Amino acid sequence: MDNCRGPKAATKVVWAGEQEEMWKHSTQVPIVQSVSFGYDDIDEWLKVGQGKKAGHIYSRNTNPTVRVFEEKIRELEDAEASTSFATGMAAISNTLFTLLSPGDRVVSIKDSYGGTSKLFLEFLPRFQIEVKLCETTDHEEIEKEVSKGCKVLYLESPTNPTLKIVDIARLANAAHDEGALVVVDNTFATPINQKPLELGADLVIHSATKFLGGHADALGGAVCGSSDLIEKIYHYREITGASLNPMAAYLLLRGMKTLYLRVCRQSKNALKIARFLQGRKEVENVFYPGLENHPQHEIARRQMRAFGGVLSFTIKGGFDSVRNFLPRLKYAHRAANLGSVETIVGPPSVTSHVECTPEERKAMRIPEELIRYSVGIEDVEDLISDLEQALSCVSA
Ligand SMILES: *Cc1c(COP(=O)(O)O)cnc(C)c1O
Repeated sequence: MDNCRGPKAATKVVWAGEQEEMWKHSTQVPIVQSVSFGYDDIDEWLKVGQGKKAGHIYSRNTNPTVRVFEEKIRELEDAEASTSFATGMAAISNTLFTLLSPGDRVVSIKDSYGGTSKLFLEFLPRFQIEVKLCETTDHEEIEKEVSKGCKVLYLESPTNPTLKIVDIARLANAAHDEGALVVVDNTFATPINQKPLELGADLVIHSATKFLGGHADALGGAVCGSSDLIEKIYHYREITGASLNPMAAYLLLRGMKTLYLRVCRQSKNALKIARFLQGRKEVENVFYPGLENHPQHEIARRQMRAFGGVLSFTIKGGFDSVRNFLPRLKYAHRAANLGSVETIVGPPSVTSHVECTPEERKAMRIPEELIRYSVGIEDVEDLISDLEQALSCVSA
């Protein structure tokens, strides 16, 4: 999966983007907490403003610390260009509003992230953009809808929170036959486990808030792809102003140095925990693409290096069991986040899909008693013992 000519991912997370000339010998990227950048030479100022010379003018547009973050994720995704955002949702909404105009049609899946799904159901239709959401794993249906004509095919894999997998290469082919652009939310897999651009996507999006930052202390987003597309998305963001701030960029960069180590560890831990839960009588269903009985396991094996740090499961006894079970966990934040060094747990009805009504969640086939478990970097034996003691309150 690593580009064999360039450095490997474990090296890129540490070094990519950090070779700026302006740090005055500091080995670490400084937080350039400055709104604007001054020029004594008016001609130089003009050249930088017109993009004819490298430099920065105003931090809503570009900022040196933020630029390093953009460069690091660009190299990790092996993309031509990238731009950054204040949050993952800013990345997703700015991208969709850049690409779509009234009268256009977008095809996506029912299982996209809760906020993304709100964009599809509430905001895009207000601008006369037609949205078709397909059954997530029904590849024939998605291909059929794409062939009716669409401007954008928007995918997410693995999905949040039921860890479904879509075949990115297959659907990208179908979309390109129709001249559509393919956008993939790669938040769950990270570039360590999956490279959507290599699989044929045109744009890859991240909520950097999750695994990229990895420490649950900064919000951010990124989009990577061809220079042409990124230029348009950057221009839209420049005007809407959903820019990443330098302090957040610094925290994300610091976190990204350990992205490779964290994601490898979290993926290993998650597989062990999924296997453990599968063997427990209190557990109804386990959703993890690394399990051999996961319906899209073969696709996941083909397009992913490892299966990621997030899994979900249902326990017996309905939502009352969830109410009893969750507070018993010692090594888990009960919180609406994922991808951090600490284990984080929560039901989608109060986390990723809190914006949706119970009817909408039902339509997306998200059981109310589902528990999303984002595995941290703790010792897996401790996490398993913790789950074991908490499960003892659930009557099987
Ligand atoms: C969290 C998340 C988002 C939104 O990111 P924010 O940084 O919270 O705006 C988008 N997609 C996925 C898959 C996510 O998990």
